[in-house]
Amino acid sequence: MKNFSDLGLAEQLLRATSEHGYTTPSPIQAQAIPAVLERRDILASAQTGTGKTAGFTLPMMHILTENAPNNRARSIRALVLAPTRELAAQVKASVDNYGKHLPLKSAVVFGGVKINPQIRQLRDGVDILVATPGRLLDLCSQKVCRLDQVEMLILDEADRMLDMGFINDIRKVIKMLPKKRQNLLFSATFSKEIRQMTRELLIDPITIEISPENTTAETVSQRAFRCDASAKPAIVTKLIKDGDWQQVLIFTRTKHGANRLSKRLDQAGIQSSAIHGNKTQGARTRALEGFKQGKIRVLVATDIAARGLDISQLPHVINFELPNIAEDYVHRIGRTGRAGIEGEAISLVANDERPYFTEIGKLIGQKIPLNDIEGFRPELWPSRAPTAKEVQKEAAARKAAARQARGSGSSRQPRSNKSGRKPNSTSNSSGRKQSSGGSNRRRNSRRRESGGR
Ligand code: AMP
Repeated sequence: MKNFSDLGLAEQLLRATSEHGYTTPSPIQAQAIPAVLERRDILASAQTGTGKTAGFTLPMMHILTENAPNNRARSIRALVLAPTRELAAQVKASVDNYGKHLPLKSAVVFGGVKINPQIRQLRDGVDILVATPGRLLDLCSQKVCRLDQVEMLILDEADRMLDMGFINDIRKVIKMLPKKRQNLLFSATFSKEIRQMTRELLIDPITIEISPENTTAETVSQRAFRCDASAKPAIVTKLIKDGDWQQVLIFTRTKHGANRLSKRLDQAGIQSSAIHGNKTQGARTRALEGFKQGKIRVLVATDIAARGLDISQLPHVINFELPNIAEDYVHRIGRTGRAGIEGEAISLVANDERPYFTEIGKLIGQKIPLNDIEGFRPELWPSRAPTAKEVQKEAAARKAAARQARGSGSSRQPRSNKSGRKPNSTSNSSGRKQSSGGSNRRRNSRRRESGGR
């Protein structure tokens, strides 16, 4: 493999990577860096944990430095769009780290925090702006942010941005950019929508595919256990205690579910924090820091909140509930096994999650064996797995019965059933829901959770 010094990067960037302890470029870096330096558009399918952030920030900063305009006030010359606050903050941290020997100025803007400090930073002038789309548009509409000097546009985790309903925001942003610019698009998965977007955005791109579509990193060992839903908190407690696991990321499907589980773990003497969209940005940052520093043993997170978390050498990820969008499984378990380090992902599968488990297997092209945990053999596990439709129907009926029992009337549409799945939607073969109302609600809720505005 090449060395960093073979890639043609500025000496200041090489110094920073070496101070960071990087010796060889990761495969995505080895391919992306020369292509970006050649000023080509890039379409990169690289899952999280592959080193993709350095893959675009290093050459981006090289180009910005090399072509720095003389005698001109600073203007935004590189724009990185990211779906969530956490990912945006992380990209900004990478820019700070790798660019510490360069005179470039950068800023990050995202929703959920005060806008005025961001306005001040932008007024002072920045070369590189990392942003979530909603807050960026707010800032542009307040005329404190001009994008007419942007030379490079980077869409990070583009699949997630589309999934969260940011497509129109992205289009609005693109309209404000100069036509002549370099575009880099990074996506963990390659859906039809992503391919459409690449046709709209990229000109003669170099395609870089680090791992085949929708696959999981080889460094992650995947296990799955069948169990009753009610037994899951006890199973998680047992796994953590028996294995003496010290750093565990657990995914739940709902914010309330995350709170409930975190409380149960605390009661069992396992220190944990929940991280989701109902928490303030300050609480989210504190929880993440505590987790990274080993003060908190377990972080319980929803999909969106966990997006973009980069915790080096995270050894254990548990899917307390399976995601109903199969691609989310790939993102979730990408939190472990990062940068070549071994990790383990465990999924707890209740009877009504079997259709989702099947969809995940199809997506990743692997059949994960489904085992029992001693003492937790499920009571409910008929030989025939329920279909997705049956699961949704039953959940809707359960919800309706619960509503009736509470005497709250029936005119209101249930927001979600017990497992958080919308009962009025159906799954197609990729596990994506097809009810437009349901999917809009899902997108809105995801956007709220991401703090995009
Ligand atoms: P990313 O996929 O960009 O989120 O990066 C995942 C992790 O890999 C981060 O913790 C980086 O600091 C780390 N990393 C990135 N590039 C390298 C490299 N060339 N050598 C070792 N670690 C790296």
